[in-house]
Amino acid sequence: MPSPLETLVKILKLEREQGCRNSAVIGGLGAYSEHWSGEAHAHARKPEHHLLVDEISEQLRRYEGLENKTDRMAAIGYMLDRIMGRVPPPPEWQARVVTSPPAAQPPQQAESPPPAQPTVQAEERRSAPPPRETNEERRDQRPRQEPRPPRESRERQGRPSPQQRQEPPRKPQRSKSEDEDDESGFVEEREGGDGFGFDSYDVPSRPRGGKSGRGRDPVELDIPPLPRLARVPRRPRPNISAEEAADILRGLSAPVTVLKGVGPGVAQHLSKLGIETVGDMLNYLPRRYDDYTRLRTIAQLVPDPDHPVTVIGTVVHAELRVARGGRKDFFIVLDDGTARLGVTFFGRHFMIRQVRKGQQLVLSGIVSIFGNQVQMTNPEWEPVEVENLHTVGIVPVYGLTEGLTQKTLRRLMKSAVDYWSERIPDYVPAATLDRTELADLGWAIKNIHFPEGWDHLEHARSRFIFDELLLMQLAMLGNRRAWQSVPAQPIQVSDADLETFIRAVFPYPLTGAQRRAIEDIRRDAAQDRPMNRLLQGDVGSGKTAVAAVALALALLNGKQGALMVPTSILAEQHYRSLSALFEKMPGERRPVVALLTSALSTTERESIYRGLADGSIDIAIGTHALIQGGVGFQNLAVAIIDEQHRFGVEQRKALRGKGTNPHLLVMTATPIPRTLALTVHADLDLSILDEMPPGRIPIQTRVIQPVERERVYSFVEAQLNKGRQAFVVHPLVEASEKIEAPAAVEAYERLQKVFFRHKVGLLHGRMKPAEKDEVMAAFAAGDYHVLVTTSVAEVGVNVPNASVMVIEGANRFGLSQLHQFRGRVGRGEHASYCLLLSDSNAEEASQRLQAMEEISDGFRLAEMDWKLRGAGDLIGTRQSGGSKLQLVEVMSPHMVEMAQREARTIYEEDPELRQEQHRLLAERVRMLHNERTDVS
Ligand code: ADP
Ligand code: MG
Repeated sequence: MPSPLETLVKILKLEREQGCRNSAVIGGLGAYSEHWSGEAHAHARKPEHHLLVDEISEQLRRYEGLENKTDRMAAIGYMLDRIMGRVPPPPEWQARVVTSPPAAQPPQQAESPPPAQPTVQAEERRSAPPPRETNEERRDQRPRQEPRPPRESRERQGRPSPQQRQEPPRKPQRSKSEDEDDESGFVEEREGGDGFGFDSYDVPSRPRGGKSGRGRDPVELDIPPLPRLARVPRRPRPNISAEEAADILRGLSAPVTVLKGVGPGVAQHLSKLGIETVGDMLNYLPRRYDDYTRLRTIAQLVPDPDHPVTVIGTVVHAELRVARGGRKDFFIVLDDGTARLGVTFFGRHFMIRQVRKGQQLVLSGIVSIFGNQVQMTNPEWEPVEVENLHTVGIVPVYGLTEGLTQKTLRRLMKSAVDYWSERIPDYVPAATLDRTELADLGWAIKNIHFPEGWDHLEHARSRFIFDELLLMQLAMLGNRRAWQSVPAQPIQVSDADLETFIRAVFPYPLTGAQRRAIEDIRRDAAQDRPMNRLLQGDVGSGKTAVAAVALALALLNGKQGALMVPTSILAEQHYRSLSALFEKMPGERRPVVALLTSALSTTERESIYRGLADGSIDIAIGTHALIQGGVGFQNLAVAIIDEQHRFGVEQRKALRGKGTNPHLLVMTATPIPRTLALTVHADLDLSILDEMPPGRIPIQTRVIQPVERERVYSFVEAQLNKGRQAFVVHPLVEASEKIEAPAAVEAYERLQKVFFRHKVGLLHGRMKPAEKDEVMAAFAAGDYHVLVTTSVAEVGVNVPNASVMVIEGANRFGLSQLHQFRGRVGRGEHASYCLLLSDSNAEEASQRLQAMEEISDGFRLAEMDWKLRGAGDLIGTRQSGGSKLQLVEVMSPHMVEMAQREARTIYEEDPELRQEQHRLLAERVRMLHNERTDVS
């Protein structure tokens, strides 16, 4: 019987699918809550459970009172998060855990297992074999090979846990169709939750043999049900000295060739994957996992280009087919008792020697249709009998390189993981693990590569994410400390001088947010420690004015300032506006502003170099050209980087190196939630422009159905006829520029015909920088009326006359990305529009996009993105301080907050990581510096 929580999860998902109309249950969720809470209380076994039920019931009752879809979506998201244990209870509920009368048990007791359902040692539970009778029973039905349970469980045949004894004899195969809401970003849901969910929570399963239509048991393989895991196991730490442990830890830096089975040849392949050391190897995470306990039967297969499926069957036919042009394809027919499947391996003639009739194979790949038959082409394959590791339970699938097969890599990984997971000393202090309830490092390494169940994977991932975030922050905080220990020149300006400057140069009063940011900067710069500040502000929030004041601080102290931007167009734009601004600066001498880009002739460049070196140039504005070898400043006191996410950490460092520890301000128009910003930019202080200059006309945003594309075109045409300009953005169809460019080129050709009365320009990521600049400049000058661009192309230029932003495939973007694009219009006095075209009919997608119609605050959109799609959209690798964060897409707010809290606690307690319990951590952070020289 499904638990009440499980039922509720289904209902909530259904409600979401139906567009939050309070229609998922008859009578509405409010009325349902009463019935549900009765059932759920009956199932609850711990005080926390009762409280969770009460909290959720209250949420359900409130639900119908919520006015709009966005709020309802958020409420559903929140309930699911709470049920899965992804977010802690709110403080007022947390408080009741101890105080509320029905839960009147001392806290320790609440932790200990209730007698009715003893909590099994997790160790034992996960390794216990499936119930004996079941195996026996099935062995009778199935004379063919039987994959044995994992080696480990055979060795540790313990008695089956009570938990498992209570389970029905056999879990039916789970069908992938239950996972179809993958896109929603709620990936974790189906994989079960942790601590806060009821232990009995399980993923719903489909009745056995349900769809086969032939009355036969669809899959005859004996695959034990995946173990569940309520709490992560914690092993006692080995009793070795810190010295010894550090020594073992350093073994991670050894070249991969020390691993068993890795010779120079294999090492070369691995190196192409970025794997040089043992540590790299263990950190090379699977691209995905195939869950052979969730296979499909052949009769169930439907073509689906997006979701690979797994089937197991017997080869009933195998042959070589010679294709036109002489290519030899290997073709087989697989039968699993429900139906037959034709499978072609293009060009893999050699497989004829590896695959024989009668053999059982596991295939994993995309199902397509050919004629009127389903088929697979080039799936990943494996003989069933090889090794348990390849076939039982969840199997890791790694990214490969030519010459390295999945099997080889998996085997090497298995042996590395087996060895290291037993030995690796855990560098995270035990106290931290206690507080965060995270898994042991060794256990996590094992389970992120070869998970014993989805719960296990989830816990292992949490530990990996935590470590990435923690180490990154500690490294950054350490760097910042080192950097700030070298004194900077304090620069001070009196209130009066500052006011005079501001009045003289700005035609408008500054916003409160601008003033606050300026005060932050002024306070920092007055110290003899270098400023290291991040200024976040939505597009159009007026960051340039703040930058101008920061540069003025240097000028008013007779020192130099520099502003670095990612493209030469942007440099020119800033050069023009800042030159005009400093023209108005009061005082006897006008500051000299110079523009430094790679477009300059040698003589021009030389002359600027001289001016910077002898101090006759006060302000340099430029691109990467600013950090070239020949550039030297006489007295650089303030360095600013605009659109900082487009620069690497190295470049930031290089600019800083141009002065004697100048004060550094980095600016970004990609707002990310505060917690996330403070984590990935742990080395920076944060100022936020959360207030727009007055008088901005809001950009009208509409989500448009694909069928209405023609209307979009006539709307654009009308705007063009009024003399306005338009952007049309096309998404990267895949993360490959090879594919992206043609998509934009195709659109460009089509749109030239659509807007034949106007001039259409094209800008894409594969064009040379100079070409891009040229097109962009032409568009800014009004030579093009429509600009077709891809998402990677530079559009960060001010074109006040542009009034329409059309975004194709808008569903593929994160909300904050869409918001970025939207910010390209509405920069002049014209009413502006943003039209979002989705290429998916999924209700889910258009619901998400609807938020764009209602919300114009980039920070709020970023928060929503984070909840819905993880942190991946918000922090590309470029923004993550240079260190490669691997699991951003599953990085939840909860994880980030936790890692931040712990990093700060550790840092505040022991900034140099000298204390005994931090010795190993210090070693690990040091290793990180060596691995990734670009952590800063
Ligand atoms: P961004 O933060 O995107 O770099 P800009 O600095 O380019 O924004 O400013 C956008 C526009 O707003 C500019 O035209 C600028 O002149 C104007 N602006 C900036 N601050 C104010 C203000 N306090 N009041 C009115 N307009 C302002
Ligand atoms: Mg700007």
